[in-house]
Amino acid sequence: MSRNLNNVMRLINEVNKTTDIADQFLNDLKYSIEKQANKEQYKPSQTFKPSSFNCLRNAYFQLIGAELDNDTTTYNIQGICDSGTDAHIRIQKALQQMKENGIDLEYVDVEEFIKNRNLTDLEIKDKKEIETKLYNKKYNMSFMTDGIIKYKSKYFIFEFKTETADKFYKRTGVDEKHYNQAIMYAINFHLDKVIFLYQNRNTMDLKAYLFEVTEEMKQDILNKIGIVNQAVTDKIPPKKDENLLKNQCNYCSYKTICKRSE
Ligand code: SF4
Repeated sequence: MSRNLNNVMRLINEVNKTTDIADQFLNDLKYSIEKQANKEQYKPSQTFKPSSFNCLRNAYFQLIGAELDNDTTTYNIQGICDSGTDAHIRIQKALQQMKENGIDLEYVDVEEFIKNRNLTDLEIKDKKEIETKLYNKKYNMSFMTDGIIKYKSKYFIFEFKTETADKFYKRTGVDEKHYNQAIMYAINFHLDKVIFLYQNRNTMDLKAYLFEVTEEMKQDILNKIGIVNQAVTDKIPPKKDENLLKNQCNYCSYKTICKRSE
């Protein structure tokens, strides 16, 4: 082999070595993120959850503590969840700063609000910086709220969502899949106005919509809670709703038991 060819081979080997180590690093990083995420996965509590009440069968399986599918989290999914959490912290900080910047907005302390309004069904389960974890003992419901704001002398429940650019550009109002969550918060806080803020994950652009909860909407949710409680007593899961929202089943962790009990 000529000296020139030798040099070329040596260079190629060096490049390969560099690529190898970069690949190894990437694989190790992904592996560690996924391992950590899967270690931290926990079984949901046997309570109603406003953020996952779009399928009554799913609510039933949560209430009876049914076995979850053996799904493992991927680093992408974990990254999306983590960046959603970070975005929540940033937006809540921005809300808190509005007052010092001369805007008539107060980011309300949820614990204080509950005490002042004498909402005795609600218990504070955990409170960390901006997060307040709540439990409603009347309805056996647990949830984490994004907060309550007092804007121009009126109280609003605040709900923040991040989403893909594609969804964001098409958005012209509150997503149908977020209605039940808003109505359940309204039942809990005895407030009927919810401000939804949507953020484009690519550009950080924002859109806000007011969602007004009616008595009929609340009654409909309370009826559904009754259906699920009765199903738990009867030990028979509610029938699969033919009008389930698009993609509802894709992200469900009870696909196996749901299929088995059809
Ligand atoms: S798989 Fe679909 S129908 Fe079954 S519990 Fe989950 S969301 Fe509901």
